[in-house]
Amino acid sequence: MLDRETFGQITETLGRFVAEQLIPAEPAMAEAGAVPPGLIAQMAELGLFGMALPEEWGGLGLTLEEEVELLFILCRASLSFRSVLGINNGVGSYGILRYGSDAQKRRHLPRLASGERIAAFCLTEPDFGSDAASIRTSASRRDGGWVIEGTKRFITNAPEAGVFTVIARSDSGSRDHKGLTAFLVERNTPGLSVGPTDRKLGLAGSHTADVVFSDCRIPEEAILGAEGEGFRIAMSALERGRIGIAASAVGMSLRLIDEALAYAGERRSFGKPIGEHQLVQAMLADSEAEAFAARSMVLEAARRYDAGEPCGKQASCCKLFATEAVGRIADRTLQIFGGAGYMRDYPIEQLYRDVRVLRIYEGTSQIQQLIIARQMMRDGASPLRRQ
Ligand SMILES: Cc1cc2nc3c(=O)[nH]c(=O)nc-3n(C[C@H](O)[C@H](O)[C@H](O)COP(=O)(O)OP(=O)(O)OC[C@H]3O[C@@H](n4cnc5c(N)ncnc54)[C@H](O)[C@@H]3O)c2cc1C
Repeated sequence: MLDRETFGQITETLGRFVAEQLIPAEPAMAEAGAVPPGLIAQMAELGLFGMALPEEWGGLGLTLEEEVELLFILCRASLSFRSVLGINNGVGSYGILRYGSDAQKRRHLPRLASGERIAAFCLTEPDFGSDAASIRTSASRRDGGWVIEGTKRFITNAPEAGVFTVIARSDSGSRDHKGLTAFLVERNTPGLSVGPTDRKLGLAGSHTADVVFSDCRIPEEAILGAEGEGFRIAMSALERGRIGIAASAVGMSLRLIDEALAYAGERRSFGKPIGEHQLVQAMLADSEAEAFAARSMVLEAARRYDAGEPCGKQASCCKLFATEAVGRIADRTLQIFGGAGYMRDYPIEQLYRDVRVLRIYEGTSQIQQLIIARQMMRDGASPLRRQ
């Protein structure tokens, strides 16, 4: 945890960077379909690739509460920017940090924290997304190491990544989560190839692709954690990641509300600014209330996480609420902009498309509902029940 003064300086610097560099770069980034290398270098210089990593590995050593506060600021700019560094701070480094050997930590964490190396996390497959326990990519023992066979789909940062956390079925007789193991596979490993970059609805500057493993041989030391622990590693990484996704949704909600407010103050109809019409005010107020609720939830969940309390249900509540809320907020903001909101000349059209994915990746809204309800049923009703 940083002292408040240092943390205050970081948030101030980040706020300026977002306002002066990232937001103005959004149209060009969308046009080019990539985040400019100069901005990636500046994000690395600010330490953003290592927000979630301890100082001993070259990270900023932030608590999750501090990290989400930075995400509230960073994600006022297009979510493509966060996407470039999100896996390094989340599902791509979490397994190494929590379950990795000393040698794995030494090899990967400093390079992930500095942004020199990009991480990818490979769980989803062509036939299995939400039903992750059923994945079929196989890992078989051979010649003292492992051979991986299979295809992973929609993998964020696959075109750029240097190290892939891969969840594969190491027990060929199993059909459920118990037979899964996590592996670290490096980019230049023979048998690993990356497919063409996917064409997507939004997140123009963030790239996803298939990752194909064909007779991909890796050494025994590539195993992450213990054999059979892959599902647990993936789920615990995703649980933490969901609070981060929710924080991104909050940052973007605040941006969208600011855009709506500015436009409502300057655009006039029927002789007055549209923001003076009560029906427009209702849209602004609903958005503000939802963003406030989402922000409060994310901070509370992050505090619980930092205190070491179980927070799987709370992480899912945050992801469900904050990502559904930002969808509604983007829709209202576009409505407040009227026809201009539908046009590429204004930022709303791009931001509206970007936020849609938040309800899908790292567990769809329906999967969050299942996790929340399952735990509620397990805990049961009680007058002393805490949320
Ligand atoms: C831009 C982008 C980036 C991504 N990055 C990564 C990445 O880096 N790594 C990675 O591993 N994956 C990644 N994914 C994949 C993502 O996590 C999956 O798309 C997501 O988990 C949903 O899986 P699916 O697409 O197979 O949908 P499906 O599982 O086929 O679900 C289809 C629909 O059915 C619903 N559904 C499924 N099962 C149930 C159920 N039991 N009850 C109720 N409803 C249900 C879902 O909610 C959804 O609405 C990415 C996806 C996108 C779009």
